[in-house]
Amino acid sequence: MNDILIQNTTAFFEKSFGSAPQKIVLSPGRINIIGEHIDYNDGYVLPAAIDKVICFAFEKNETKKSKIIAIDLNEEFEIDLTQEIQLSDVVWTNYIRGVIKQLQDNGFSFEGFNCVFSSNIPVGSGLSSSAALECGTIFGIKELFDLTIEKVDIALLGQKAEHWVGINCGIMDQFSSVHGLDNKVIKLDCNTLEFEYHNADFKDYSLVLFDSNVKHSLFTSEYNTRRIECEEGLSIIKNHFPEVKSFRDCTEEQLLSIQDKFNATVFKRVHYVVKEISRVTKACEALDNGNIEILGQLLFETHYGLSQEYEVSCEELDMLVDTAKSDDKIIGSRLMGGGFGGCTINLIKKGHENEVKSKFSNLYLDTFGIELKFYDVKISNGTTLL
Ligand code: ADP
Ligand code: MG
Repeated sequence: MNDILIQNTTAFFEKSFGSAPQKIVLSPGRINIIGEHIDYNDGYVLPAAIDKVICFAFEKNETKKSKIIAIDLNEEFEIDLTQEIQLSDVVWTNYIRGVIKQLQDNGFSFEGFNCVFSSNIPVGSGLSSSAALECGTIFGIKELFDLTIEKVDIALLGQKAEHWVGINCGIMDQFSSVHGLDNKVIKLDCNTLEFEYHNADFKDYSLVLFDSNVKHSLFTSEYNTRRIECEEGLSIIKNHFPEVKSFRDCTEEQLLSIQDKFNATVFKRVHYVVKEISRVTKACEALDNGNIEILGQLLFETHYGLSQEYEVSCEELDMLVDTAKSDDKIIGSRLMGGGFGGCTINLIKKGHENEVKSKFSNLYLDTFGIELKFYDVKISNGTTLL
C-alpha cells in the first residue's frame, strides 16, 4: 500500500524539482488501544504507530528559502528562513512553519530545502495526521542537515509546533508517531515520558477502525471544560490525600471515600480518569498473557466510561459500540480519540471482517444516512528514513 505512495511522491518530486530526492521519510499516524483522555491527566496511555503514513521527499536547495508542496491538496508555499516566522491563513502550512520555528528557536541551524509530501492517513479522523506531518518534517530536516535530535525531542518539538498552531494537545500523538515499532504497543507514562513496549499480538482478532464520518462542534469547548473539571477534581483529591500527586496515585477506594466532597459532574469525570488509568495496566497484562478477550472487555468498559461518566461520546459512536457489544464477532470496541465523532476501534474475529463491515455499513446508513468508512490497521514502525 505504501509502495505506491512512495513512488508517486518520488515521481512528483522529480517532476517539480528536476532531480531525485536526497532523503525519503515515512511518518505514521497512530491509534490508541486504551487510555483515552489520559495524556493530559498525567496517566498511562497505550498507543501505537500504524501502517498509514505521510511520505516526504526532501533535498537541500543551497538557498535560505524552503519550498514545500502538499501533493494531496495541490498547494505549495515558500518560506524565507531568515525572516521571523508567522502564522498563515493556510492552515496546513502552519504545521510546517511551526516545526521550522521550533527548530530555530531551539538553536538548530539549517538552510533551505525543497520538500513534497503525500499521505494515506485519513485527515481529521483521529489518526493524528497532524503529528505525522510535524514529526516527518522535523525528521527530514534532521536527516538532511545532520542535526542531532533525540527521538523524544522530535516529539516534544512537534508538540510545541502544534501548540503554536493553536491546538493544546498532549504528547501522546507525536510520541507514538516517532517511537512506534512493528507489532509493539507503547505504554507511555505521560508524566515522566518513560515508556515500555508490549507485544501487540491480537491473536485471532483483527484491528479495524470504523470512521463515523461525523465531527460535532462541541469538541473544543467540551475538551477545555474536561481539563478544568479534572484540575478541580484533582485539587480536591490532593486536599484529602496529600500523598497523591497526580491521578495515578489515587485508588478508586480513596476516591469513593470522599465522593461527597465533589459535585456530581466532577466526581464522574475523576472516577473515569482513575478507572481508565488502572485499565491501561490491566490491558498490558492482558496483552502479555495473550488474553485478548479481557482486552476486549476493557475496551467496552472504557467506552461506557467515556460515554456515561466523561460524557464525550455522541449517538453515532454509541450506536456503533452498542451494536458491537451485541455482535459475537466483535470482542471489543470503543470510541478512540477525543470523542464527539471520529473513529471507533474494534477487535473483530479474523475471517469475519467483511461480514461485520457490511452489516455495520448498512445499519449506519439506514440509521443516520451517513456512510461508514473502515480502516484496517497494522501496528508498524515510527518515523523513519526509507
Ligand atoms: P488529525 O486527527 O488527522 O491529526 P487534525 O485536525 O489534528 O486531525 O490535523 C489535520 C490537519 O493536518 C489538516 O487539516 C491539515 O492542515 C494537516 N494535514 C494532515 N495531512 C495532510 C496532508 N496530507 N496534506 C496537507 N495537510 C495535511
Ligand atoms: Mg491532530
